[in-house]
Formats: sequence, C-alpha cells, structure tokens
Amino acid sequence: MKFIFCALALIAQIASAGLQKYSSLVVADANPTATVPPNAIRVTYLGVNGFQFEAGGHVLLVDPYFTRVGLWSAALNQPIQSDANRVGEGLRHVRPRADALLVTHAHFDHLLDAPEIMRRTYARLVAGPTEIRLVESFGISPNKCQIVEQGSVRKVGRWTIRAFATQHDRLFGKVPFDQCPPAPREREKPPVKASDWCVGEPLAFVIEAAGKRIYIDSGGVPGAPPDPRIKDVDLAILGVALPDSRERFGEAVRQLRPRYILPSHQDDMFGPVDHGFVFGKMTNFPALLSQSRNLPGRLVLLDYFQPWTLR
Ligand SMILES: [Zn+2]
Repeated sequence: MKFIFCALALIAQIASAGLQKYSSLVVADANPTATVPPNAIRVTYLGVNGFQFEAGGHVLLVDPYFTRVGLWSAALNQPIQSDANRVGEGLRHVRPRADALLVTHAHFDHLLDAPEIMRRTYARLVAGPTEIRLVESFGISPNKCQIVEQGSVRKVGRWTIRAFATQHDRLFGKVPFDQCPPAPREREKPPVKASDWCVGEPLAFVIEAAGKRIYIDSGGVPGAPPDPRIKDVDLAILGVALPDSRERFGEAVRQLRPRYILPSHQDDMFGPVDHGFVFGKMTNFPALLSQSRNLPGRLVLLDYFQPWTLR
C-alpha cells in the first residue's frame, strides 16, 4: 500500500492547472441565490466528489469532504482526522439543514467528514453497511443511518434514491485500501489511519426529484458500465480520478444517455480548497474532452461552490 501512495506522491510533482482553459464548458447560475424553480434541481460542487442538490426547499448531500488530508499523510498512512474548521468553512456554502447525506464508499475522501457534517446539518446517512459502521463508531445514532445496497430504493424528503453496486477504480492495478476488517462483536473503534477508511461497498446512486434524474458515482472500471436499467438521465456525474474510470467513461455515457455529463473527482483532492480548482495529477481532462465529442450529451464543468440549476 505504501508503494501505491509513494508512486502517487511522485506523480504529484507534475504541475497542474485550473479551469481557466475550459471556461467555455463551465456552467453557473447568473443569480446563485434565486429560488430554485419547480421542475429543477440546483447543483453545487463542493470539491473532490462532493455535491449539494437542492429541489423544492429540500437538500441532499453526496460525498461532502472538506478536510483535504495532505498527500503525505495519505501516502505514509498516517493518523488522519476530520478538521472541524475546514468543515465549518465548507459548510458556509451549504444549506444549514440537509435531508440526507449519501456516500459512494468509505475512503477518507468521501466519508471522513460525514460524522461532523451529519451533526451540523442534521442529515441522515444513506450508505452501505461498512460506511455506516464506521460513522456509528463516532457515536452517531443508528437511527440516523439507513443501509442501502444493490437495488435499494429510499425516499427521503423530496428525494427518491436508488442504489446500485459498482466497482472502485484501481490504482496501479489494485483497489486502494481494499481490506475491510470483519464487523467486531463490540462497538467498533473509530478509524485512525488513512487505510482504516477501507473501501467498503462502492455504490452509484440515481437521485430523482422535481421531475429530474441524476446519476452519480465516484468512478469505475472498464467493462463494468452502469446498470443497464439506468438510461436517459438528465445529468450523469461520473468520477474520473484515475485511468480506470477514464477508460470506462465512454461506455458509461453511452449507457446513461445523459442530457448533461459532468466529470467529477478530477480536482487535486490533496490541495486546500481555498486554492481553487486545480486538476488532479493523475487526471487527463483533454483525453476526456476529445472522447466526449463522439458521445451523447453536453459535457459541462462546475467550479467550487458556484451553483448551477439543472432545468
Ligand atoms: Zn475511493
């Protein structure tokens, strides 16, 4: 595991840039504080794979993560923890209350801040069993958590949430932190090191509200497109952090036939959020862009904390 992250750290030396070059693809509302119209969902990008969705006065969060653990802490598998100040800063861009928090898997860049955000936004957690076990180890009540798995359907507030099993991308041939210990008999101890945030059960979600359907995952592997029952979505949010997920990007988009395609998880998750959007060192947006010319749907980009209404 150390090898994987040391290799990642080496790659991190390569310089990257932000969204300026692609400003024609970036969408944002002219009036970000206007009321969300009926039949629309407002989408706010929170960095990494984090999103806020708003419809009819209801709020849903997916993978919100503001702590931004440093590269070396992750690479050297150091003890890591949620940073209350950074979470507080991030939540300034989010509604004070959320119906639910959805988590695609248990890695720290998706789940580390979930307990703190649940306490502050009163959101309930909708996630797989490992994710829920880890969050409950921080003293979150089980009745604030709903386990989902392949095929589960949950209604929370205005939202209908469908969960689908998916596969996590590999980093140099291996899913990072793929060993989750069995559930202990006594109460679980809270995770300490980066590797304690093991992958869990990777999920994709289809989220419906206000007559719109959004598909979201955090990546995938080639040869495993989204469930064939999911198609004709309004917005497909596809994680593209690693080569595996870029390779399956085309097949995923052809399956989903979205009106809009939003590549996600392609910013530098180790850099502080106040440095603005910087592409991650292992991403290759130019390659995605050239692929997208032969795909259905319009490719868009979102900048941090700039809401965009999906109509
Ligand atoms: Zn992950």
